[in-house]
Amino acid sequence: MGYLRGFIDYSREDQQTRDPIDRIKDWGEYTIRLDEDELQRQGARCMDCGTPFCHTGISFNQSDIGCPVNNFIPEWNELVSEGDWQHAFERLKETNNFPEFTGRVCPAPCEGSCTLAINDDPVAIKTIENEIIERGFENGWEQANPPAHRTGKQVAVVGSGPAGLAAADQLNQQGHTVTVYERDDRPGGLLMYGIPNMKLEKETVDRRVKLLEEEGVTFVCNTSVGEDITRDELKADNDAVIICTGSQQHRDVPADNRDSNGIHFAMDYLTEATKSLEHDPDQAAIHARGKNVIVIGGGDTGADCVATALRQECARVVQFGKHPASPEERDDDNPWPLFPMTFKLDYGYQEAVEAYDEDPRKYEILTKAFETNENGDVTSLKTVRVEKVEEGGRLVTKELPGTEEVWEADLVFVAIGFTGPERDVLDHFGLELDDRGRIWTVDGTNDYRTSDDNVFAAGDARRGQSLVVWAIREGREVAEQVDTYLANETEQVII
Ligand SMILES: Cc1cc2nc3c(=O)[nH]c(=O)nc-3n(C[C@H](O)[C@H](O)[C@H](O)COP(=O)(O)OP(=O)(O)OC[C@H]3O[C@@H](n4cnc5c(N)ncnc54)[C@H](O)[C@@H]3O)c2cc1C
Ligand code: SF4
Repeated sequence: MGYLRGFIDYSREDQQTRDPIDRIKDWGEYTIRLDEDELQRQGARCMDCGTPFCHTGISFNQSDIGCPVNNFIPEWNELVSEGDWQHAFERLKETNNFPEFTGRVCPAPCEGSCTLAINDDPVAIKTIENEIIERGFENGWEQANPPAHRTGKQVAVVGSGPAGLAAADQLNQQGHTVTVYERDDRPGGLLMYGIPNMKLEKETVDRRVKLLEEEGVTFVCNTSVGEDITRDELKADNDAVIICTGSQQHRDVPADNRDSNGIHFAMDYLTEATKSLEHDPDQAAIHARGKNVIVIGGGDTGADCVATALRQECARVVQFGKHPASPEERDDDNPWPLFPMTFKLDYGYQEAVEAYDEDPRKYEILTKAFETNENGDVTSLKTVRVEKVEEGGRLVTKELPGTEEVWEADLVFVAIGFTGPERDVLDHFGLELDDRGRIWTVDGTNDYRTSDDNVFAAGDARRGQSLVVWAIREGREVAEQVDTYLANETEQVII
């Protein structure tokens, strides 16, 4: 603890954000870095509280407590407060392969569990994390570091999202030869095609992939495992296979006329928007310019659709959610140190408020039907208001009579999440699934072996739809298990 009174003398300053009206004119990241003096003050706000919860990294009651990769947060806060960025960088890299991703997009459960957050604003942990890694790149501390020797063991990783990348990084550093197969044209999974540029510029993903390549990881893109290469081929050529194919089986809206023109899954829209930035954003295959946009689904994917539609100069954007608005303060059943389920004005909503003087979110609303014109184009949505009521000890959604409404729309995005991993590749491997359709692994928590011999699984495909930071943790843990397996079950030759 560098300065004993930091948490008393300084208030929280998070990374700044660009002016909402300016930033919706481009696709650059919406945040601005803090200056050195302010960052040191923010580091000095850490109380070094003795029993910190910020780095615990456990799930409890369907909520997160602390950092899932167990970052040594109080240690690097102190180092930052003293201006010792290089040692802070070295400590950070011990637990997190890709702080440049989490430092930008993590919802920061660490901050919800910060002891200061009991009665004050938490330490700006995520902002500090991002700054440490960016300084690592700028100062050349983060550079290619290939392993000194190779074990002669081959590992195939299927899927290049954060779980696959973390597993590949760890195993490559152990000296194993790793090939990552990706069906998209660029590695990164949802970091590349999912999370929009405004939150995570794609140069940041490419920078990391290039470093991994320089360290010896091979990426094979445009290759769908199960179609372009079979399970038997992969197993014959490798000592272990890790499935990290994510959880991208869309959940759909069961409403009349769902197949009308102009209704798209959010992921198709976000992927097209990101791909269009490579050539001409005006030519995106799905474009919102001048359109009335409705996003169905109140979560983060829907929020990313709102922000994307604003940048494409939509006429208006509205987002429907089934749940009520979150409370301003924690509810009694959501105490510290759980992740706070409180009202937030995320970047896209802040932009909509500035641009249209209206928060786009409409709560407790259910889409019943789509209406179309003679060409089959969507023209409006019929909805009804709903509320949650307790029935037989369970919360159920009830429609409220007399609350029917009609909303004009020419473009609709379905963003109500995913039902689980896509089945094709799992069926191709003949993998056992759990009762929620995720890849079954031996004890469901920290054992990553699947029902297929020497095939392992990690990330959203095993855990269900989650967060980048959990995917990194799973990638690290599966790598440890595969490394042990390769040492114990197969013959090692050090080259
Ligand atoms: C729109 C959106 C925004 C999000 N925003 C955030 C955020 O801000 N913060 C956050 O923490 N989390 C966010 N998430 C969640 C986060 O992105 C995921 O939890 C995380 O990416 C999961 O990582 P993964 O490696 O398990 O899978 P994924 O990132 O889904 O990667 C899986 C990869 O496997 C590939 N693949 C699938 N099948 C095959 C096959 N047969 N052969 C070869 N390759 C295959 C896919 O193409 C994909 O590239 C967001 C999710 C979405 C959808
Ligand atoms: S990875 Fe997420 S939870 Fe962990 S320190 Fe960074 S922002 Fe916090």
